[in-house]
This record gives sequence, structure tokens and C-alpha cells, in this order.
Amino acid sequence: MKRMSRSGIEYLDYTWGVFSGCQNMPRGICPVKACWALAITQRFKNHYPDGFSPRFYPEALDSPRQLRKSSRIGVGWVGDVIGYGWRWRRQIYEVIRDCPQHKFLFLTKNPERLQLWGTFPANAWVGVSVTGSKDYGQAIDALSEVKASIKFLSFEPLLEWGSELDECWEEGLEGINWVIIGAQTAPVRLPEIEWVHSIVGAADLAGSLVFMKDNIDTRIISQNAGEVSRLARVLDQEDETILEMELRQEVPGDADTLWD
Ligand code: SF4
Repeated sequence: MKRMSRSGIEYLDYTWGVFSGCQNMPRGICPVKACWALAITQRFKNHYPDGFSPRFYPEALDSPRQLRKSSRIGVGWVGDVIGYGWRWRRQIYEVIRDCPQHKFLFLTKNPERLQLWGTFPANAWVGVSVTGSKDYGQAIDALSEVKASIKFLSFEPLLEWGSELDECWEEGLEGINWVIIGAQTAPVRLPEIEWVHSIVGAADLAGSLVFMKDNIDTRIISQNAGEVSRLARVLDQEDETILEMELRQEVPGDADTLWD
């Protein structure tokens, strides 16, 4: 198995296996019952000799440089690279800066660790997974401090809705450029239609783009004909270009100095 793989995730072209592993479940950070990343490390033991323990793969560092076509690449997707891979950020950033033709996406359920990553390269997108109300407050607080050109929230899966989500909407999405909404797939668990409406409405207020995963489209839309599809917008190439041009003016220099 290669450490740069074509991705089945709709908004990614590739996943870059420069890192794997996660300790969020035993630490009580992740409420997910069936972790697909854990299952992959158990299934492909030769490829993941340390199982789900955090591990860096220096032999994978060169892979993005060999991709000619501009691509969206998920970094360390079989695990939580932000939570447990920060020791290797210099090597990872060096490759990302060497590949301005690509966009590199980071996604974490461990937003407190974002502060360990300093200033992200200009072509890195930084996201936090939100499964519920408590996560949402932490995600917004952490992302407000992050120095990254594109910040996003991934509501996949969104498992509960509470007061923080109710209260924070109008101003809470300020500074968030992109929002992903998806369902839990194993076992299947859909967000309430009202939650999806609220997220999309809040994104509209903040001017954030929304990416509705297929698992929402096929299941919720079929149950609520037209309601969600009317609201869903997909990040397209034109939007992406406009978004980045605007942001370039707002993002400070690319100096990686915080932790040097
Ligand atoms: S944070 Fe992600 S990789 Fe880690 S246990 Fe949860 S679902 Fe799995």
C-alpha cells in the first residue's frame, strides 16, 4: 500500500499517509464508537506496524512533490495528525511549502493542540471536527487563534445539539471560511434536519461556503425533498479562487516562528 492514496472523500483528491495514529478515544476526546481509521490500521497491519499509536513516516515525505496535478490532499487522515504529530511539523511544513500547487487539509478533534503548530503554510487548510455543542465552543475558540489561510468546521458526524450551538450561531461562524456537513455512516446516524438548516443559515450569515456530503444528500434530501438541496452549496473552483484571493490580504506572513 502506498502512503499517498487516491481518496474516496468527496472534497479530497488524495490522502497523504505521512502520519497515522490517534489517542483521542482512550483520552475521552472522541465520542465516535466505530472509528474507520482504527479499523484501517487493524486491517492493514503490515502498513501500520505500530497499530493506532502515533507514528511518522519519513519515507512518505516526498510523495506530494511527485504529484503534478494540483490536488486537495488530506494530511495524516488515518488518525489525528494535529493532536499527535506536531513534533514533525517542520518536515511536513517544508513539503507543503514546496508544493504551492496543492492544498493540504488538516482535520482534528483535538483543537487545543493547534497552538503547537505555529503558523500554517499559506496553502494549508485547517479544520476541526464538531460532533456536538461542547466541541463547537472549543473549535471556535481554537480556530480564532490559529494562523491559517482557510479555516473550516466539519460537522461529521453531528451527534447532538445543545445551548452553545444555539447561542453561538450569529457571530460564531465569523472567521470560518468553509463548513462541511455529513452523517455518521457506521452505524448510520443522521443529523436532525433542523440542525442542518441552522448550520447552513449560520454559514450564510458569515459568508462561509458549505459542502454537503453525499451521505446527507442521499439520505436527508430523500426524506425531506428539496429542503436541504435548496440550501446546499458546494465549494467549486471559482469560489475557491475568489476565497483565496480575498484571504491573502488578511493573512499575515508565512513565518513559522511561534515554536522555533
Ligand atoms: S478522532 Fe478520528 S481518528 Fe481519532 S479516534 Fe476519533 S474518529 Fe478515530
